[in-house]
Amino acid sequence: MTVLRSKPRPASWPSRSGAHRITRPQKQRALRILRKLAHAIPRPVVELDHGNPLQLLVATILSAQCTDQRVNQVTRLLFSRYPSAGDYATADVRELESLVRPTGFYKSKARRLIACGRALVERFGGRVPGTMEELVTLPGVGRKTANVILGACFDTAAVIVDTHVARVAQRLELADSPDPDRIESTLQALWPERLWTSGSQRLLLHGRYVCLARKPQCERCAVYAECRWEGKRGR
Ligand code: SF4
Repeated sequence: MTVLRSKPRPASWPSRSGAHRITRPQKQRALRILRKLAHAIPRPVVELDHGNPLQLLVATILSAQCTDQRVNQVTRLLFSRYPSAGDYATADVRELESLVRPTGFYKSKARRLIACGRALVERFGGRVPGTMEELVTLPGVGRKTANVILGACFDTAAVIVDTHVARVAQRLELADSPDPDRIESTLQALWPERLWTSGSQRLLLHGRYVCLARKPQCERCAVYAECRWEGKRGR
């Protein structure tokens, strides 16, 4: 298979102050990419099974360094044993560790779940809060986790930046930096707000199933014509 080698074109939007300076053609191209991805991925869904914000918070914490499929296997039992934040707050750490063990890093994940449960009970009446400012005060919850929850459970426009989104955004020159916060704000500037959640979910799924880290499946890529990444494979 031919590997195309073209010089990467540097993104041109950062100003000296670091603020985003985005041109109309850049916005048009970003929308064109989203339209093509929307055609390939008509219904982007969060693949972590959940029925409420607490379950998605727990599943997202467990998904660090683990596949969603493995997390879903574990949460089937976990959610029935621990239905409320209070159940995590008062959990026996050994029992919780053994339940989440298949997801890896089980000791720290079990402790994080207990700490999160306590914080939810003590500060939020046992409910998962619905704002970025509140969510990131929870132990182990960063902007990525908060955006997953806001977009899926609170109908709030949210750009999720995980490892897949970061990789695809850079390869497609939708971002000029590997820094997740910078990628988040760049995508926010490129896309209209109503597309933040679905757009980032589509980039995520494209990265997970097509634009793989080591062997991108360029031959079946919906945005092939838009990609100028030097590692792109020929068709
Ligand atoms: Fe990724 Fe290949 Fe598509 Fe470019 S052409 S976005 S490298 S899958």
